[in-house]
Amino acid sequence: MIYEGDIFRPPSEASSLILQITIGCRHNQCTFCSMYKGKTFRVRPKGEIKHIIAMGAQEYPHTKRIFLADGDALACDTELLSEVLKDLYNSFPRLERVGVYGGPKDILEKSSDELIHLKEQGLGIIYLGVESGSAQILKDVNKGVTPEEMIAAGQKAMASGIKLSCTIIIGLGGKELMTEHAKETARVMNAIDPHYLGALTLMLAPGAPLAKKASSGDFTMLNTWETLEELYLMIQNFQLSDCVFRSNHASNYLPLRAHFPDEKETLLRTLKEVIENQRQDVLRPEFYRGL
Ligand code: SF4
Repeated sequence: MIYEGDIFRPPSEASSLILQITIGCRHNQCTFCSMYKGKTFRVRPKGEIKHIIAMGAQEYPHTKRIFLADGDALACDTELLSEVLKDLYNSFPRLERVGVYGGPKDILEKSSDELIHLKEQGLGIIYLGVESGSAQILKDVNKGVTPEEMIAAGQKAMASGIKLSCTIIIGLGGKELMTEHAKETARVMNAIDPHYLGALTLMLAPGAPLAKKASSGDFTMLNTWETLEELYLMIQNFQLSDCVFRSNHASNYLPLRAHFPDEKETLLRTLKEVIENQRQDVLRPEFYRGL
């Protein structure tokens, strides 16, 4: 396949065929993220996209799931995305789902009818990085939207019928804004009420601007137990109606998975037991950050 630079995809797209129809991230300004810092956002020309699809179909004709990279391929205009989806379902006879990263602005810039049209054309899932529900934290990390805009984007995606998978980042407010991050993130997630919710733990790559703030002492990373306490508070405040929750990414100290609302209390009990007894034996030792 033809790829430019490093390729990233959500954990649940691990076995999907990745087709890079855009390069980079249109926003590219979040201070905790270094994924696309070396790339300038652009949409591949139509001819190039067609070539990539044809190549993929020849090499992997039995593909069932496709993820459209890079950072927010939903930024493509609806007409192009619609054509791409049509081409994909014609080229891969066993294709069941197409997924894409979408920033809040990508969703807000599309009309409800456009999103419904993309759903009808086979766009199966949008991955939305919510990161935090705190206005202060979203501002501090340069997310480019307010919590209310994030809610509007999430609700709009949900209303279209496309599956929505949201991501939040444990520890994004540092020690300074731990409680605010937990409570406000729960508030925003409750308002969006997505189908899937993934909680990652903040890990800073050297190229991320927030890493500089952390090393100069202006931002205090949470230790292992604080990340679990923050997650506990967040979960306590979740009022999700039908959501698959995962916190089992490689960045998480304690792999967790549950369905809300029915498994919320069990999840809280598990977390409480681990925190109260400082159960190092159940944590991923390679990431243990001390007390
Ligand atoms: S977190 Fe998402 S929106 Fe922000 S710079 Fe990284 S890829 Fe772009």
